[in-house]
Amino acid sequence: MNAPIFGFDNSYARLPEHFFARLSPTPVSTPRLVKINESLANHLGLDAAVLASTEGVQILAGNRIPSDAEPLAMAYAGFQFGGWSPQLGDGRAILLGEVIDQDGIRRDIQLKGCGRTPFSRNGDGRAVLGPVLREYIVSEAMHALGVPTTRALAAVTTGEQVQRERFLPGAVLVRVARSHIRVGTFQYFAARQDIEALRLLADHVIDRHYPNAREDQRPYLALLDAVINAQASLVARWKLIGFIHGVMNTDNTSISGETIDYGPCAFMDTYHPSTVYSSIDHGGRYAYANQAPIAHWNLAGFAQTLIPLIDTDSAQSLELAQDRVNAFPARFETAYNEGAREKLGLEMSKQSDSTLMEELLATMADNQADFTLVFRRLSWLAGDDDSSDDSVRQLFKEPAAFDRWAVQWRARLRDEPRGDLERCTQMQAINPAYIPRNHRVEEVIRAAEDNGSFGPFERLHEVLQKPFDEQQINVEFQKPPQPEEIVQATFCGT
Ligand code: AMP
Ligand code: MG
Repeated sequence: MNAPIFGFDNSYARLPEHFFARLSPTPVSTPRLVKINESLANHLGLDAAVLASTEGVQILAGNRIPSDAEPLAMAYAGFQFGGWSPQLGDGRAILLGEVIDQDGIRRDIQLKGCGRTPFSRNGDGRAVLGPVLREYIVSEAMHALGVPTTRALAAVTTGEQVQRERFLPGAVLVRVARSHIRVGTFQYFAARQDIEALRLLADHVIDRHYPNAREDQRPYLALLDAVINAQASLVARWKLIGFIHGVMNTDNTSISGETIDYGPCAFMDTYHPSTVYSSIDHGGRYAYANQAPIAHWNLAGFAQTLIPLIDTDSAQSLELAQDRVNAFPARFETAYNEGAREKLGLEMSKQSDSTLMEELLATMADNQADFTLVFRRLSWLAGDDDSSDDSVRQLFKEPAAFDRWAVQWRARLRDEPRGDLERCTQMQAINPAYIPRNHRVEEVIRAAEDNGSFGPFERLHEVLQKPFDEQQINVEFQKPPQPEEIVQATFCGT
């Protein structure tokens, strides 16, 4: 290949050598393209047809390295389920390089599942087709839902079997991110008391993600503040669409504020705050309702790594950082309450609105109501007439419980300047009709892994591209699972 396909400009590769290990992916036997994300390719300034060609697929699978790539595995550490792991790192992912997209934003292009690295520990460096499809579908759905996230540029099968509890087809996901720098990346250097590396990393992040922090009197404190804001907003968005990340370890907490690492993640069907899907989360550490407190804990860990940079007086540093970390719960609440108000169709802000939301959620939990459908259908209801409430009432085990709440909601709507139609339009633009329901994702994985059939994957992916549209012909994808279809547990993406 002559003209560069990607046009890489690799800023991370210019950092010191102990930030990563340089190495190439391990070739696979017979790569085949499952999916190329054309619109994302275009946005990155890449030619989707070239990427989908035989030679392009060799690159996506890691069999060929473009001449301007500088492949590397990043070093990082992390607190996993509260326990410290001093060395994690990209054990099965390799950063090919960075491109500048059409908005002028730098994006990592990373191959996930492309062989062992010095950070693999006991792992095989590979990824299984099912989890690759899950990540492709869910991350692209999150993007369509307007939530900051890593993206999927392509998925390829490797033609090789990967050993897990049984042999499963191998695959590689081509992942795109604003960067793959995590809280755990900072913790890696902090644990080694490598202050010089911390400073270089922080400067890199400021230049790349938070250039305004540079103007601040205390740039590293401003960086902390910016990351706290980004995470507060992100986790609020998750909660507002019923998303459970499932493995919020500090190595899965992105500094750029994107959702990263779609392992045992899931969207709730029926609402309950203690919902957990991850098969390894026995204590419910990463349950739906714990996500904000856990993000707070992860950010306290991030703050700690910045202490040596914030001020030469460490007591002063600590005090300043602690102050910022203490502000997280309020920032989260503000972001969440604002979103909750919008979900209820309220334009003005009143003190009692958060109680109205809490009461609806409590009623939903008591009545096993479907999270997504309740809010979607609430948008259809008239503000001064309950005669057509059945579509929502029937989602509650005891429909009268909804009626009682709806009386308060309608009383509150009387203070609103907007009419039904306007409210409905606004509510439908934020309360999705379609989410990647677990039983649908499972169906996709079973068809692909067991039968080599990708039709269900294509169909589900397409439906989820327009989550806020009614899509009359796809209404079956709005439906919650039948009792026998309920997915009880999801597994880490290994
Ligand atoms: P995760 O649970 O996906 O966030 O991964 C935690 C750590 O395990 C990271 O350092 C991963 O790179 C590593 N890891 C996960 N799966 C594998 C695998 N199959 N081979 C090597 N390393 C892995
Ligand atoms: Mg991870």
